[in-house]
Amino acid sequence: MSSAELPLARFLARCHSDFSKDDSGEVASYIPELSLANPADFGIAVTTVDGFVYEIGDSNVEFTIQSISKAFVFAVALETVGPDRVETVVGVEPSGDAFNSIRLRSDNRPFNPMVNAGAIACTSLICESEGDGAFTRLHDALSRFAGRRLDVDEATFKSERATGDRNRAIAYLLRNHGVLLGDVDQVLDVYFRQCALRVSARDLSVMAATLSHKGRNPLTGEQVVSSYAVARTLSVMTSSGMYDSAGRWVYRVGIPAKSGVGGGIVAALPSQLGLGTYSPRIDDQGNSVRGLRTCEALSTHYGLHMLNRVGDVRTCIAASYDVGSVSSRRNRRPREQAILEAHHAKCAIVELTGALSFANAEYISRRVRGLPPELAYLIVDLRRVPSVSEAALQLMADILDDLARAEVDVVFCGITKGTPVEAALGEWLLGKAGVRSIALLDEAIEWAEDRIIQSEAGALDVEKPTALSEQQLLAGLDPTALSALSELMTPHHYRVGERMILAGEQATTLLFVVSGVVSVRLPGGLRLATLSAGMAVGEMALLETTRSADVWADTAVACLELSLDAFASFRNLHPRACEHIMGNLARLLAKRLIIANTKIEVLASY
Ligand code: GLU
Repeated sequence: MSSAELPLARFLARCHSDFSKDDSGEVASYIPELSLANPADFGIAVTTVDGFVYEIGDSNVEFTIQSISKAFVFAVALETVGPDRVETVVGVEPSGDAFNSIRLRSDNRPFNPMVNAGAIACTSLICESEGDGAFTRLHDALSRFAGRRLDVDEATFKSERATGDRNRAIAYLLRNHGVLLGDVDQVLDVYFRQCALRVSARDLSVMAATLSHKGRNPLTGEQVVSSYAVARTLSVMTSSGMYDSAGRWVYRVGIPAKSGVGGGIVAALPSQLGLGTYSPRIDDQGNSVRGLRTCEALSTHYGLHMLNRVGDVRTCIAASYDVGSVSSRRNRRPREQAILEAHHAKCAIVELTGALSFANAEYISRRVRGLPPELAYLIVDLRRVPSVSEAALQLMADILDDLARAEVDVVFCGITKGTPVEAALGEWLLGKAGVRSIALLDEAIEWAEDRIIQSEAGALDVEKPTALSEQQLLAGLDPTALSALSELMTPHHYRVGERMILAGEQATTLLFVVSGVVSVRLPGGLRLATLSAGMAVGEMALLETTRSADVWADTAVACLELSLDAFASFRNLHPRACEHIMGNLARLLAKRLIIANTKIEVLASY
């Protein structure tokens, strides 16, 4: 299926064909070069936060970014000189005036960074901090937002520099009030150049998606600005991004946006999408007519208004159980198993899913509080969590402190290196008492089980040899048969890390583990089971002649090996005993099946 057949592509194509018919509005001409734009051009692009780009119409036609640059330069100013300095030169209140208004607030600061006065003030901050490198800094940053090197439209730059007396007047006024400290011409050169950067609707959609994606460009993966700067930028876009029709815009569309007199609009809906449109016919307020209609239609059709959000916090818990219903892949000896059955409530596992925000972290805090009082180990699986917000982190810090006071050890698993979750939790976690990170959930469960067994029965003694009569497969066998069988076995020793059985090979033996620990793994490494003394490996050879998995010695291992040929001769002499062994095998397999079914049931019931 081509991307043109995707539902959103069809919708955007409909918008494009419907709104192409709207010839209202005029191409801006107060900057002479802008009047050269082709009034018929119309492009739409949407970039999703996972980096898929939809493009319709003239989405690659380039035009000058103009006022849209203001949003991104504001973000860069916050990043470069910090919010305190930025707030000394510009406010964050809608002005209710046109973009080029000369009116300032009563404290002589511009109303907000989206009107020319505020934008020039932000550009002057970059000039103060970067000197001659100011434009390079902005050029680089905006290019990183777009995910490609943007060019400057020299003709438009010169055209505006030659005619931009109103902006010059604004800049001198700002200098008079000590808002702009540097050289007016230098600041305006940078400002006019930033406005003359050439972008396409596609570029704008990627830039918007970078804002929607907390400052990370979804195409390049680069973190362009911090999520702090993004949230502030989206705030002023919401209140002041659409010239003096900002109130109506929030009311009807409800997506943070910024438009430019060049005919572009960017709209960024956090965590959802970035939209870029281009159509140079603009209305009396300076907004692209077709662009506005596209934004409105998209928001209305899909109910995208930012305040129109639904969500069920409970879905953040993908599964919650204790070691009684889902144990690790380590098979336990009967005595150990009995301890785990008696103390299963000591270890709870909570599997989380989705981005963790304030609301779902708060819900998790209540679920954790509801865990049984005997809880000693809490395992939190973050495999399916892509991000953790600051609010969630704060709530988690409190949850962890409460658990530490209650002497509950917490194990996080599924934190992958280099991910936002690792960045948010990595070092912070290590500093917390009683908190550790174990890569795999199964290993974390095994760790907690070991601790429970140790606290009840002392250290796990994997070295201690087991008598043949203790082998699960041979349980209840009469002594004569047992000693006849033991005559047929040969002892075998394996070193740590040695492979004992190779998947795919012909099975000719079965092994009884006398001491040590072995793991059954798929050839890719995935662990199917871990076994210890008293258990048989390769016992499926009694039913199936090809080895289905590898078996590795996790410690030094002592085994008794029984060849299938020897077992066949034993069968002739001791048919009843043999039947008994096959009965044991059936019981062990049935037990495994019951455990597997319970696991599936528990995990699927969420
Ligand atoms: N460079 C333009 C100016 O300052 C930008 C105006 C706009 O797009 O609103 O007049």
